[in-house]
Amino acid sequence: MPGRLAGRVALITGAASGIGRESALLFAREGAKVVVADLDGKAGERVVAEIAAAGGEAIALRCDVARGEDLRAAVAAAERRFGALHVLFNNAGIFPAQDGSPVDTPEEVFDQVMLVNLKGVFLGCKHGIPALLRAGGGSIINTASFVAVLGAATSQVAYTASKGGVLAMTREIAVEYARQGIRANALCPGPVNTPLLAELLAKPEARARRFAHIPMGRLAEAPEIARAALFLASDESSYVNGTTFLVDGGISGAYVTPE
Ligand code: NAD
Repeated sequence: MPGRLAGRVALITGAASGIGRESALLFAREGAKVVVADLDGKAGERVVAEIAAAGGEAIALRCDVARGEDLRAAVAAAERRFGALHVLFNNAGIFPAQDGSPVDTPEEVFDQVMLVNLKGVFLGCKHGIPALLRAGGGSIINTASFVAVLGAATSQVAYTASKGGVLAMTREIAVEYARQGIRANALCPGPVNTPLLAELLAKPEARARRFAHIPMGRLAEAPEIARAALFLASDESSYVNGTTFLVDGGISGAYVTPE
C-alpha cells in the first residue's frame, strides 16, 4: 500500500531528537524522502541510519536554523538529492532554563530564543517557500506551542513570545500563499516528554505545578505529536490552512482540571 507521503520530500529541522526525530521516522515510514536537518549532525546521522534500516530514504545535514545560509543549503540539498521539496517542517526550538519572567530573563537569553525559535522559522520559510513553489505547492508546518495561546504564572517569557510570533507569522504565510498551493499551519503541542522539558520537569514542584493543569494527567509522547504533523503534511489535511493546530490533551479547553 502506498504511504500517506509517497513521492513527497520533507525537510525537518530539529529532526535529531524528540518530536522532529519521531516525525522523520514516521514520515519516512509513510513513503517520504526526508532531510534530517539539525545542529547535532551526528545525532542526525543516527536518525538517518534508523530510517535506512527500516527501508526508508533520508539524508542528514548539520544545520543551524539561526543561519540563513544553512537553511538555503538544506533546501538546495533536498532538491539536488531528491528532486523537489514538498513538506517544510520548521520544528527546531530551544527552551533555556534561564528563560523566566521579564524581570529575571537575561537579555542575551531572550535574543537567543528569538533567534532560534522565531527567526529560525522565518529563515526556513524564506529559503523553503521558493522550493515549494517550484514543486507546485506544498505544506509548511511551523512548531509553535500551547503557550502561544495561554499565559502561565510561571512564565518563560522569551519562549512564549517566540511561539506567539511563530503563530502569527504562520497565519500570514498561510493567507499569502494559499492560492499558490501552499498550506501553512502552526502545530501547537502541549507539554511533550522530550529532552526539551527534562530539565524543567526534574524539579518536583515545577512538575507538580504543570501536571495539575493537564486534564489527561500526563505528558504527550513525541509520536503523538508526530502523527499530527503527518496529518498536516499529507493531503488528508488539504483544506486545513492557517490553523492554530492544538495537540494539547485538552489543556487549552480546561478551566478546572480533575484532582
Ligand atoms: P528536543 O530538544 O527533543 O529537540 C530539539 C532538536 O532541535 C534537537 O535535536 C536540537 O539539536 C535541535 N536544535 C536546537 N537548536 C537548533 C538550531 N539552532 N538549529 C537546528 N537544530 C537545532 O525538543 P522537542 O521537544 O522535540 O521540541 C521540538 C519543537 O517542539 C520545538 O520547537 C519546541 O519548542 C516545540 N515544543 C515542544 C514542547 C515540549 O513540551 N517538548 C511543547 C510545545 C512545543
